[in-house]
Amino acid sequence: MSDCIFCKIAKGEIPAEKLYDDGEIFCIRDINPMAPTHLLIIPYKHIPTLMDMASEDLPIVSKVYGVAQKMAREAGVDKDGFRVLHNVKEWGGQMVFHIHFHLLGGVKFGKDQV
Ligand code: AMP
Ligand code: ZN
Repeated sequence: MSDCIFCKIAKGEIPAEKLYDDGEIFCIRDINPMAPTHLLIIPYKHIPTLMDMASEDLPIVSKVYGVAQKMAREAGVDKDGFRVLHNVKEWGGQMVFHIHFHLLGGVKFGKDQV
């Protein structure tokens, strides 16, 4: 989609360091980090929200979790633990309507934190 910020990053129209890129999924640092490690794992395909995923898109989600394992190890947060967050639509806190997963770590999260 032409006005989608993550599509623009995917195409290289907005510069961002791709820490991981397999042609289907890429990973960048969040521009406004909420934790010492805050990465975004983003499928190239423009799918606005979870609720727009067709059944044939769902294997992307398992691949995202594979990338999350790899990136957590690389970031050194795999031993202590981390969070993978996926905000869905407005009430879920989604601001960018191109599906993406947050990997947050480097700090101990409390039960009351989301
Ligand atoms: P969400 O609220 O789940 O839609 O999260 C969107 C995330 O994208 C936020 O954490 C933003 O800080 C992040 N973000 C927005 N623009 C950029 C950008 N150009 N590069 C990296 N992260 C971005
Ligand atoms: Zn997009």
